[in-house]
Amino acid sequence: MPVIDNTKTQAKSVPYVDVALCHSCRKCIARQACKSKALTQVDPGEPPFVDASRCYGCHACVVECPFGAIIIPR
Ligand code: SF4
Ligand code: SF4
Repeated sequence: MPVIDNTKTQAKSVPYVDVALCHSCRKCIARQACKSKALTQVDPGEPPFVDASRCYGCHACVVECPFGAIIIPR
């Protein structure tokens, strides 16, 4: 479990959805946690993706996803 650190440097890392881990939940809980609507799910049967232009790197989605499918790049 990554440590959530909201310093400016940390806040810049935009997470991504690992499609191999994502279960394409009918209602993506992680998506509901995203206040900036950066997690986009085009089709409910498809994994969502992170719109980097909207994401401010809070990592709330990373914590919310029950399958650990949202990854913070190193
Ligand atoms: S990112 Fe997580 S919560 Fe969202 S659809 Fe994929 S597995 Fe489900
Ligand atoms: S890191 Fe924050 S802003 Fe970016 S997609 Fe996740 S919840 Fe949304």
